[in-house]
Order: sequence, then C-alpha cells, then structure tokens
Amino acid sequence: MQSTTAICPSLFNATTAQDGILSRIRLPAGMITSTQCEALVQVVNQFGNGEIQITNRANLQIRTSQALSLEILQDFQDYALASSNAKIDGLRNIMASPTAGIDIQAKINTIPFVKQWNLYLVNHSELEILSNKFSVCFDGGETISVCDRPNDICFAAVEVNGKIYFNLHLGLGDRGESPSALGILISPNQVIEVLGALAEIYRDYTEQKLNQNHSLTRPPRFRELLKDLGVERYLELVEDKLGYSLSPSLPSTLPLGARSSYTHIGIHAQRQSGLFYIGVVIPLGRITHRQLQGLGDLAKQYGGGALRLTPWQNMLITDIAEANIELVTQELNDLGLSISVNNPYSAIAACSGYKGCKAAFTDTQGDAKKVATYLENCIKLDYPINIHFSGCDKSCAQHHPSDIALVGIQRQDPNSPEVYRVYVGDGDTNFGREIYAEYAAKDLPALIVQLSQVYQNQRSESNLFKNNKAKNDKIQR
Ligand code: SF4
Repeated sequence: MQSTTAICPSLFNATTAQDGILSRIRLPAGMITSTQCEALVQVVNQFGNGEIQITNRANLQIRTSQALSLEILQDFQDYALASSNAKIDGLRNIMASPTAGIDIQAKINTIPFVKQWNLYLVNHSELEILSNKFSVCFDGGETISVCDRPNDICFAAVEVNGKIYFNLHLGLGDRGESPSALGILISPNQVIEVLGALAEIYRDYTEQKLNQNHSLTRPPRFRELLKDLGVERYLELVEDKLGYSLSPSLPSTLPLGARSSYTHIGIHAQRQSGLFYIGVVIPLGRITHRQLQGLGDLAKQYGGGALRLTPWQNMLITDIAEANIELVTQELNDLGLSISVNNPYSAIAACSGYKGCKAAFTDTQGDAKKVATYLENCIKLDYPINIHFSGCDKSCAQHHPSDIALVGIQRQDPNSPEVYRVYVGDGDTNFGREIYAEYAAKDLPALIVQLSQVYQNQRSESNLFKNNKAKNDKIQR
C-alpha cells in the first residue's frame, strides 16, 4: 500500500519521496536479529537503493523503486520485521534504552515490558484508531537514558526505599518536548495494566472526537487529549478503569544520577560479567546493505545474535567476550565503520533534506557530510558535539536541543545560495540561542570548526553552550 499524504511511513503505508518509496520497519526497542538483517538485506538488494537508514526512534527505513508486494510484506511479518496486526504496525516504535538489560547502572530490565506492550497492541485491535504518533517509552535507569526523548507516555524506573518502581511521565509540553514526571509510582507488575488503561481512555476520547466531528482529517494527538481534559481529569478516568488510585507519592527532586546519550559509542562493559558491547558510529544513521549484513554476521558469530539501534541513529553489537573485542573491532574497521566517540559523525543528526522531503529548504544530508568531513580533517574532538541539521523548523531528525543547530530557511530568490539560521545551546527557542539569522551553507564547515574549538576550550570552565546537562538535570526522577 502506498500513500502520498503527510503521514509517518510504515511498511503497510509506504510514502513517496523524491528518492523512492519510503517504508519504515518498526523494531520495538530497536532490536534486530541477524536473521532479520539477512531477510531485510535481501529485499534491499533486490528493490532498494542499497541503503538502510536508522531513525530517531530506532526504526529502520528503506527506499525502494517500487511498492513492496504483499508476499514481501507477509515475509516481513513471518520474520517479525512487521507486526502481525498491520494496523498496529503504523504506531510509533516502542522506545527503550539501547542498553536495556545490559547496562551496569540500570535498575530494571525494560525489554520484557517492551515485548508485553507490543503484544498488548497486537491483541487489542480497538487501539487501531489511535493517532500513529502515539508513543510509549520505558526507561530502566540506564546510563544511556531515553527519559528525555519526546514520548506521550514514559515509565522511568526509580528506586524508593530499596524497591524499584516506575515513575509515570506524560507528554504535557509541546511537540518535541520531554515528557514530565508526575511523581506517580507504579510497581513493575502493574505497568502494563496501567498503560492499557491510559491507552483505553485515549481510545475512548479519540472515538468520541471522530464521531463528533466527521470532518476531522486525523485522530487527535495524545497531547490534545491532555490539553482538552487536563491531566487530573484524564487520570481520574484512568483510575476509574483500573479501580485503584494513582496518587503522586514521589518527592519532586530525586537526584538524576550520571546519565548520558553519546557515551554509548565505543567499547563498554556489560552488567553480565566478561561481556562487552560496542557502540558503532553510523554516519547520519545511513548504512549500506553490505554493512548491515556484516554487522548482522558479527552479532551472530561473536555476539548475542542481535543488534540494537539507538535513538541517536547509531548501533550496538552486544554480548561480545573480551577475547573477541579486538577481532570484532578490526572487522568493523574493514566494514568502514568507526567506534570512536571522537568521530564527528557520532553526534551529528540531519533530517532527510530536500531529496527526501518536500518541505526542506536545504540539502541537510549533503551539508552535514561536508561539515563532518571538514571537522575530521581540521579538529580532534575530545567529546562528541551534537550538531543538528534541520531542513525547516519542524525538527524531524532531533527534537531535543543540540550543542549547535542549523535550520534551513527559505530564500527569496531560489537561485541564490542556500542559507541556514545558526543556534547554540540553550535559548528562547527549541533550537537554542540564535547567533546568526542567516549563514551561507558553503561557509558552515569553517564556522562549525570555530564553534567547536570555542566549545572545547571553554566547556570545562563555563560550558558555553550549556544545554543537555542542564536540561537533563531538570528532569525529575
Ligand atoms: S525537518 Fe522539515 S525538511 Fe526536514 S524532514 Fe522534517 S519537515 Fe522535512
């Protein structure tokens, strides 16, 4: 099936882009086995453009010259690359930390919750009517946190008086903002039933709105429900369904602990003794079919048989014995893949730009590549600098603030050179503090090197662009 409307692409509702028919493969918690990699690579070999893309919800996207046939879609279902319930397959991917279950700092393994929620969705076809933007996340308190990723509902593990609970977070803010902690503690064995009740009330609301207004072109978003009903009323309805209370019982200032995003790159010990995971840099989230096949083979031969995609569009190979680390690192190098946290690509994100999106004012992918190449040649980064290229102000590739943000702007004269607005760190807008209203795309590489040098020199003293840490510190855990 193929759509030309402005919806999120899925396998059963592929969309048309300038560079092919775009299908999104939803992989709960971003996990893909080596067998699934083989099946996917075969299809990409036959119909695709040779490239596979990781999204910021740890899905995979492929571009094909023709719509995928029913037989292929059924094969994908057989390999669990697509949900057995085609309508549910369009819902946003279920997010978890890429180090769920293997992270030394984690309070609880969230993978079983992801699997249970996915099964719940498959078995509850009445939830098909929800907006496909409905998004759920489980954060187990790992070093690699996903608590700040934009989600409608997030369950974040906390330890209170020696017991593990999940603190309920709801997406109270605007598009792209982190969900807010409510201080409502939910015991692990009640998480799925609470989530089920939250989704059922959202479904009732959706049905009511669609029945009231037949001219609605899409189901209401979750944040519209929260604005319309208010959190208090919404939770009252959920409590009625559950038959018990969801009262806040958590102090608002629990310490967050040391948590980070980009430290997943490189070699790290797992909580399982003697095993390690390797975080691999995937430039702009794009990987060739040969590389994906190679990564899948490495996971099968030396790891736990699966890869994990990250919401930062990189990838992990897990469960590698210490004795095999050098060998795997060499094989990754032979595949043309870096595991260095200093690689500029480790923290550069770019939306699809004008080749993949009609709304784009700039060639974000091409410009990001030029900046990364220039950085590689001109500066040695001692820590990843998160640079975000957005072709317009919708910010699809990254919703959270970055160290440096470049936003494509419309030119009066289409024949004039492309320009970006430049932002750094925190500021009055989602993108940060504006430092240039217009900057020519061709001059960006030199500018980014200058900004990176300033950042590296001054970061330890005053954190010139202070952003992510400050943002994270605000999250109540
Ligand atoms: S940020 Fe704008 S240009 Fe980029 S993919 Fe989203 S809508 Fe398109």
